[in-house]
Amino acid sequence: DIAHGVILYLDEISVSFDGFKALNKLSLHIDVGELRCIIGPNGAGKTTMMDVITGKTRPDSGKAFFGQTLDLTRLKEPEIAHAGIGRKFQKPTVFEQHTVFENLELAMKMDKRVWRSLFYKLDSEARGRIETVMEQIRLTAQAHRLAGLLSHGQKQWLEIGMLLMQEPRLLLLDEPVAGMTDDETMRTAELFVSLAGQHSLVVVEHDMAFVEKLGGKVTVLHEGSVLAEGDLATVQADDRVIEVYLGR
Ligand code: ADP
Repeated sequence: DIAHGVILYLDEISVSFDGFKALNKLSLHIDVGELRCIIGPNGAGKTTMMDVITGKTRPDSGKAFFGQTLDLTRLKEPEIAHAGIGRKFQKPTVFEQHTVFENLELAMKMDKRVWRSLFYKLDSEARGRIETVMEQIRLTAQAHRLAGLLSHGQKQWLEIGMLLMQEPRLLLLDEPVAGMTDDETMRTAELFVSLAGQHSLVVVEHDMAFVEKLGGKVTVLHEGSVLAEGDLATVQADDRVIEVYLGR
């Protein structure tokens, strides 16, 4: 969609491990502000795709662009992070001995964009940003609670908040609701829907109730390329998708 612009464009990306094609000419694009879910059976290539986007894995062939011009296949991992791609792995990693507020403050201090680290101080602007993020992740009431005392779901939200402190344009999330209660899962869906528009999100997920609640476009990966794409109901009714899921 030219009107809104494309934030991420993968063009025929291939990755092999010892001759095994983890990604096989994978092409997809994500629009600015989009909330996209990536689903697919184990081994479909979802993690490898995230690794290519973040520069952890270099593709054998193909192109990956962030925005219109930034060629991700030429950048190193930290350069890609600084360019505005934030990734959250499945397990929460927060500073358990620090409070929610301090975790968000640390995330801002750790921002490797030099101008921010050099000139960082907890002024009213920084405090305002932390407070805004705490509200987004619904942890305002826990601001001075140690992160180690939070529930699993709250820790996940805090880590998402830490990513948000670094103002990413694209957020990559790997099974964000794994281990969450149903209530936490639904609250997470609301959070992601509220973040879309301002941010672009790519969510790898197995929980179909969550994917349904997110409501965006769904991409089904299989054997390293796109098998189907569309809204959840459409891809779930697709014979090829049914075969891949039931065939295992
Ligand atoms: P998914 O995340 O969809 O489960 P992955 O991207 O993890 O799929 O894996 C795709 C395929 O590539 C799998 O068959 C996996 O065993 C293989 N693979 C992934 N990473 C490596 C690696 N570092 N070395 C060898 N094989 C790998």
